[in-house]
Amino acid sequence: MNCQNLWSDKDAADFVSSYAAIGVSEDLALRTYTSRLLGSDPNLVLHGGGNTSVKTQVKGLFEETIPVLCVKGSGWDLSTIEPQGHPAVRLKPLQELIKLSELSDEDMVSIQRSNLINPTSPNPSVEALLHAFLPQKFVDHTHSLALLAIADQENSEKICRDIYGACVAIVPYVMPGFQLAIAASKAYKEAEVEALKAGVNLEGMILLKHGIFSFGSTAQESYERMINLVQKAEHRLDNYKPVHFVPDKISLKSFSSSRVFPFLRGALGRAAINKSCPRRWLFELRTNPLTLELVNDERLVDWSSRGVATPDHVIRTKSRPLVLKKPPEVKDKDHFDFDDAFNDWKDSVEKALSKYIDEYENYFQRQNKRFSGQKKQLDPLPRLIAIPGIGLIGVGNSSKAASIAADIGEAWASTVIAAEALGRFSPVQEQDIFDLEYWSLEQAKLGKAQEAPLARHIVLVTGGGSGIGAATSVAFAKKGAEIVVLDKDGKAAGLTAEKCGRNSFAIECDVTDPVQVDQAFNAIAERFGGLDIVISNAGSAWTGEMSNIPEPILRRSFELNLFAHQHIAQASCKLFHIQDHACHDASQYLGGQLLFNISKQALNPGKGFGAYGIAKAALLALMKQYSLEEGPKKIRCNAINADRIRTGLLDKAMIEKRSKARGISEAEYMGGNLLGEEVRTSDVANAFIALALMERTTGALLTVDGGNVSAMVR
Ligand code: ZN
Repeated sequence: MNCQNLWSDKDAADFVSSYAAIGVSEDLALRTYTSRLLGSDPNLVLHGGGNTSVKTQVKGLFEETIPVLCVKGSGWDLSTIEPQGHPAVRLKPLQELIKLSELSDEDMVSIQRSNLINPTSPNPSVEALLHAFLPQKFVDHTHSLALLAIADQENSEKICRDIYGACVAIVPYVMPGFQLAIAASKAYKEAEVEALKAGVNLEGMILLKHGIFSFGSTAQESYERMINLVQKAEHRLDNYKPVHFVPDKISLKSFSSSRVFPFLRGALGRAAINKSCPRRWLFELRTNPLTLELVNDERLVDWSSRGVATPDHVIRTKSRPLVLKKPPEVKDKDHFDFDDAFNDWKDSVEKALSKYIDEYENYFQRQNKRFSGQKKQLDPLPRLIAIPGIGLIGVGNSSKAASIAADIGEAWASTVIAAEALGRFSPVQEQDIFDLEYWSLEQAKLGKAQEAPLARHIVLVTGGGSGIGAATSVAFAKKGAEIVVLDKDGKAAGLTAEKCGRNSFAIECDVTDPVQVDQAFNAIAERFGGLDIVISNAGSAWTGEMSNIPEPILRRSFELNLFAHQHIAQASCKLFHIQDHACHDASQYLGGQLLFNISKQALNPGKGFGAYGIAKAALLALMKQYSLEEGPKKIRCNAINADRIRTGLLDKAMIEKRSKARGISEAEYMGGNLLGEEVRTSDVANAFIALALMERTTGALLTVDGGNVSAMVR
């Protein structure tokens, strides 16, 4: 048995007492407790799916008692829900609606909103009326994967009756909303009579091809009935494999996905441009045994045409994945001829993608006729890509969205595999899927917020563990970018990545070692699918006058301050080129960006800083060379000259020593420029962002030093 009863009397009592201290009723505290129990199991509830309610009462302004339905508000996730995530709606006016034969979505939403006790609450769940029409005090609803494997069968009603007898009501598929609430209420009433006749309790309700409800007079009863009903479904299945969502460990090894993914990302981008959609997409690969079993099954193409496990999932993954052929394997990287070996596979990808898009558009045209052509088509790109031998890829406009799509893809794999072992996976049909996909109340779940300026961009920062690199990583993350932090100090890289957000990625890497750089780039391609912007920042200053500096020191400086930038730039261009491989129209290139952190030393040498400055002067030339050679491929190359920034290169002790030597205060020393202001790491970070957004600029050097005549470009 996989689904476990996690109820604990102690935890329940703790919820009640701790929420009582802030004025939350026992009913709502227990509603919060069991909702979180359900929400924390991805085999029951996924990403905002599922909903729960309690019928209780609140006091009005005149101390009068108002019966209410506290039902999950949209935008809340059951796993982290708080009491305010179950907004209270006056119960009586909702229950009155059962007398109607029809109710538009707009009217349903407005009646629910106008009966909110707190008008600033989120919209009650689209399934709120279903909860209101059921007489039981606590009502729980999940999209249990085990249950779906049974409910998504051609003869699902019979199987459910065999398993549950008269303990459940069974509701044929109806789209969520008012009509489903009416159908569920009717089925409940009929099932109540049958349960009474059979001498059993009515514990729940199966919504065929959709999910399961349980109910009870207490939170514990309703929760335990849900677990019990789901366990019975699991018991009936011979081949049920629950999902775990343990993130894949990135291997850092050269592996074919590091070539396959950037090419695929580029192909997706080109297809997107042709359809006037945003061109950059993020990937998340899953390669666990469950997803491999799915993608390596010879029935994959057939399965992929059947549809989603529960209609709600269509807004995250579309109705089916794009299935690709198995790519050629990379046996020996050094003797691998990319063009030859990938030509056939590459063509098959382009064909499969364009077929997928055509079919999506045909589906839209066909179904939109039922709405007199009034619906507006969403982008036709896949959100799940299944590749035999490799795994299942979630695709999204952010790494978070890609991760959600991958989770739902795994849930789909679990459902399909279990359903096929039992009989035939047979979920809701095209028309029902379309109704859900193009239902305004579902689309509202995705939000329409404008994207941040660097959303969809994968940004690599070298030397990101501290100083300018750390500040730049955080600044790019704030602009919506997905961040990869490279640093020789893996722990420092990890700390910066944490500051950049959950989906950021840290790699320990010594950029002076080309092998480590190659491994890091393979890992980036595997993690996100490709790359857009590189901030080649890692550097260090060695001092000594040129007349007597030991050659090994000069060479070390060149290794880090010139050759490491070359390793990074070369590996970046290789990856950018794979993304645009097979693209013959320059206007469709994804291109890329190389941003170098140079130094004022490149233009205005300081005594004793030759080893540093000469390498940086060469780096300036390197930047110009790359901008010249890569411009036609839409790869922009620019650089920053910063000076006198508090970092590891210019630490507190050095600042103290230098200001003392000049006989001025530390503040005067740090603000020793035309503006008289200290230049901060955040100023440099913002300059990198400015360059990243300057779409028609390449080969440029931007100075960030508060103004210094002798360091000005001439
Ligand atoms: Zn549902």
